[in-house]
Amino acid sequence: KAKSSGHNKHAVFDPSLKLDLESRRLLLAELDRALVQGEFELFYQPQVRLADGLLIGAEALIRWRHPVRGIISPGVFMPTVNTNVIGEKVAAWVLTTACRQGGIWEERGQKLKIGVNLSPSQFKTGDLAASVMVALADSGLSPEHLELEVTENILLDDDDRTIETFQRLRNLGVGIAFDDFGTGYASLSYLKKFPLTRLKIDQSFVRALAPGTVDAGIVEYTIRLSRLMQLDVIAEGIETQATADLLHAMGCENGQGYLFGRPLSVPEFEHAFLAAAKCGRRKTGNGSLVP
Ligand code: C2E
Ligand code: MG
Ligand code: MG
Ligand code: MG
Repeated sequence: KAKSSGHNKHAVFDPSLKLDLESRRLLLAELDRALVQGEFELFYQPQVRLADGLLIGAEALIRWRHPVRGIISPGVFMPTVNTNVIGEKVAAWVLTTACRQGGIWEERGQKLKIGVNLSPSQFKTGDLAASVMVALADSGLSPEHLELEVTENILLDDDDRTIETFQRLRNLGVGIAFDDFGTGYASLSYLKKFPLTRLKIDQSFVRALAPGTVDAGIVEYTIRLSRLMQLDVIAEGIETQATADLLHAMGCENGQGYLFGRPLSVPEFEHAFLAAAKCGRRKTGNGSLVP
């Protein structure tokens, strides 16, 4: 994704993703090695209640800690991962690892909802609901503390089996968030069809939010829609206090963004957020939390 290109200064892989056959083959071989050698890592980004800044959750975001090239963003390698057989293995690793981490935090008394991004392949092969049940049982994470994030490319595959899988996950008590809401096709029909629990307002509408703008209209509409459908709502990409204040005034309950914290490694996240179990509203952007 173009939005992550800012973090890619260590990447040698063409971030435009128009890889030729040879670099694609090289990248795939590297990805296989990375998985075996444990170079993938989940970072966690805080999610807060806008009214008072209370930490309510953490989204797990994959990073590739490359031995030579440093930390590589998912926008560089996930498109390749997701369109190859390795995708299933990486997706399974993400689910297991995030649940395990969530289980550790839950055991320490943290009431955090762990957001896990699903990959398209997780619906096409295997039994996602069963995998989730195993991951929950193995980790001790409560279903209520797991939120799966799906994008429209997953929802577009709206056969009965996908809807049934969602229903089984919902019956377990697992949350399902509609990620990047408003950026794909035919969003509204999917809202009716799928048993979702939360809308994530895409950062493209949040970034330059100001009263009276088209973005503000879209955000207000999404908040109203979520209320009408009894869905939870969270805004992504909040970078300034003014944006957080405006969203709160519009009735948006929850937020995520650099203002509250960047995605951090587990030790960094624990240091920054779990010592006091509370995430105060930051007055000064991201500075203090960047490692
Ligand atoms: P996403 O799920 O929509 O995640 C939000 C992205 O926005 C993250 O980028 C996050 O670092 C970034 N972000 C958060 N707050 C701000 C902000 O205030 N300003 C700006 N400019 N950016 C912000 P990241 O970590 O590079 O991930 C990009 C995408 O890669 C994710 O978008 C998701 O679609 C995918 N992804 C990441 N981790 C995983 C994973 O474990 N599995 C799968 N299947 N996809 C993943
Ligand atoms: Mg997400
Ligand atoms: Mg998103
Ligand atoms: Mg996204």
